[in-house]
Amino acid sequence: MNVFIVHAHPEPKSFNTALRDLSVNVLEKEGHSVTLSDLYAMNFNPVAGPDDFRDRADPDYLVYALEQRHGWETKTLAPDILAETGKLLWCDLLILHFPLYWFSVPAIMKGWIDRVLVSGLTYGGRRFYDRGGLKGKRAMVTCTLGGREHMLDRDEAIHGRLTDMLKPLLQGTLAYTGMTVLPPFAAWHVPYVDDTTRAGYLETYADRLAKLDSLSPVAYPSLDDFDDKMTPR
Ligand code: FAD
Repeated sequence: MNVFIVHAHPEPKSFNTALRDLSVNVLEKEGHSVTLSDLYAMNFNPVAGPDDFRDRADPDYLVYALEQRHGWETKTLAPDILAETGKLLWCDLLILHFPLYWFSVPAIMKGWIDRVLVSGLTYGGRRFYDRGGLKGKRAMVTCTLGGREHMLDRDEAIHGRLTDMLKPLLQGTLAYTGMTVLPPFAAWHVPYVDDTTRAGYLETYADRLAKLDSLSPVAYPSLDDFDDKMTPR
């Protein structure tokens, strides 16, 4: 399969980057093709704005999502966006690698989402969830945290469940655009544990990468269960 890894960590020697390198090595060894976007190394522009469009449908008033649709139809989006959409369309599996920042992704990755998951391509009108533009692809989050596992492993935990914390990403972004979402992989308390524990995370992650097909996806809504006004049937 084709795997597209999007990585956001500012330090090439970080533990997070070690997990990313493991993804590349294990998946390539298994015979998969891997493409990497290392957003900091690319100096990726995360700011969605008027320069993202080389031909405006409405030059007088910017409605970002409408210009995305026009830019996608006419292939006049900025070249850095089109390069990323090309990798996205190529892949069967998207892996987002990042350190958790404020219960979410680092800003550079949020900007990648805003600019690259283009309206008209990944969603639009009634094309979302299991009718989204990226239907048929799988997505997985691989993140490192400062927090400990027991702070995020159940509803009663101090922060609730990790999958609930990451809902805007897992449901509002990956599932919304049609992808099948695999359970996130988390390395807990990373800066504070010892080397042996971190080595254990790498081992567990390598094991997970070798068994991706056996993972049960996280369940998200199907439009079949909702009427035309998106009210539950
Ligand atoms: P690093 O600091 O890069 O690495 C930790 C240690 O691992 C280092 O000693 C390094 O030398 C060592 N190491 C590197 N490579 C290897 C290897 N191959 N094998 C073994 N050891 C290795 N955390 C939360 O839980 N929730 C939050 O909401 C949150 N918000 C944050 C917001 C901001 C703005 C910031 C800066 C941090 C936040 N954090 C939060 C913490 C952050 O998520 C963690 O610090 C980060 O994920 C740790 O991973 P890292 O890769 O950066 O670790």
